[in-house]
Amino acid sequence: MNNSLMIKNARFIVTCDDEDNLYENTNILINDGVITYIGKNQYEADETIDASNMIVYPGLINTHHHLYQTFSRNLPQVQGMELFPWLKTLYEIWKNLNEEVVYYSSLTGLGELLKTGCTTCFDHHYVFPNDNGTNLLDSQFEAATLLGIRMHAARGSMDLGIKDGGLPPNSVVQEVEAILKDSEAAIKKHHNPALYSMNQIVLAPCSPFSVSGTLMKESAALARKHCVRLHTHLAETKDEETYTLSTLGLRPLEYMETLGWIGPDVWFAHGIHFNDEELGLLAKTKTGVAHCPISNMKLSSGVARIPEMLSLNIPVGLAVDGSASNDGSNLLEEMRVCYLLHRLQSSQKAPSGYDILKMATNGGARLLGRSDIGSLKLNMAADLFMIDMNKISLVGTQLDPKSLLSTVGYKGNVDYTIVNGRIVVKEGMLTGADEYSVSEAANKAFTKYLAY
Ligand code: ZN
Repeated sequence: MNNSLMIKNARFIVTCDDEDNLYENTNILINDGVITYIGKNQYEADETIDASNMIVYPGLINTHHHLYQTFSRNLPQVQGMELFPWLKTLYEIWKNLNEEVVYYSSLTGLGELLKTGCTTCFDHHYVFPNDNGTNLLDSQFEAATLLGIRMHAARGSMDLGIKDGGLPPNSVVQEVEAILKDSEAAIKKHHNPALYSMNQIVLAPCSPFSVSGTLMKESAALARKHCVRLHTHLAETKDEETYTLSTLGLRPLEYMETLGWIGPDVWFAHGIHFNDEELGLLAKTKTGVAHCPISNMKLSSGVARIPEMLSLNIPVGLAVDGSASNDGSNLLEEMRVCYLLHRLQSSQKAPSGYDILKMATNGGARLLGRSDIGSLKLNMAADLFMIDMNKISLVGTQLDPKSLLSTVGYKGNVDYTIVNGRIVVKEGMLTGADEYSVSEAANKAFTKYLAY
């Protein structure tokens, strides 16, 4: 089926392309989900959007999330905690996860992401309860397909339960063999490596303190056999560093290096406590980092060395992290917080507003290994969002459209989000599902889950 969409006379198009082009009063033609023309000519299309008051941006790419935690936010009992006690308390809730909870928490989190300009989401799911853990990835892809977001899902894992000196309850850890078997099945069922792919799989054991060295090593071997990417949490807290130093005599990154977990197909969530030598190693090996400023601030984990990482050309993307440490799924908010945090921490060396937009677009695409998303140019997937410049909150901001999402910040829902050429948010509302019905059903599922 051939579908065409014309974005007509856009006030600004912030391309985030290699030349950092900014176009004014320009058209974009999309055919079958792909950008086939950017310029002054106008073409007939199946559908046309008048964008004369709009700024068009490339879709944002979220590089670390735990969608199931959308049903663990604003919980009074964990608000004052840091990572290890926070995890121990929450695992008592998370061990009751099931398909319904994963489906509705994914719909809720992905819905908010789309409504705030995100077009691709990587989700790091690693809790697979022994009783209810079989079809959780199917539920995530079902939710993503309904709403129309591009989805990279992790087959995460944990094999070090409390009985083996790990943090999670024994009922949510699995044997290495079962994990690898299910990981391979997930790749076969869901992973599409083709250009413009909507669904991909990543192998993502949870963290050094909930996973054995064997599982890390075997996961890396399996991922490389199938050409899928590798992801885990690393260097998030000083507690983690103390753990690997005392149990293994190695710093976290040194440990990962001994397991083969380094290279351009690997990216780590957080990456806060790296020393200079470790930053050099990441740069040399092109190992990436998903930066989660709100989560890092909320859990008092520290400030990632983003200015140094960017100057060393380490691949860096932006991410919201799970909603238990955010407590939302809004990359636009993440961008502004990121901008302000590094201004406070690094002053003149802080990334500019536009640097942060590029981190959330180009940077994310680099982490996910995608050459077809992250900027607006010919032959890229038509993933973009649009905001109306005539809003009161944007009056007088037009001097620098590249920076404004980080410097001024954009609050509320975007006007349009388009993924793979499909309009998935129109006039601020999801098109794939009725939002009020989703809210009602999701709240019911949430209440049942928390009543355990
Ligand atoms: Zn995380």
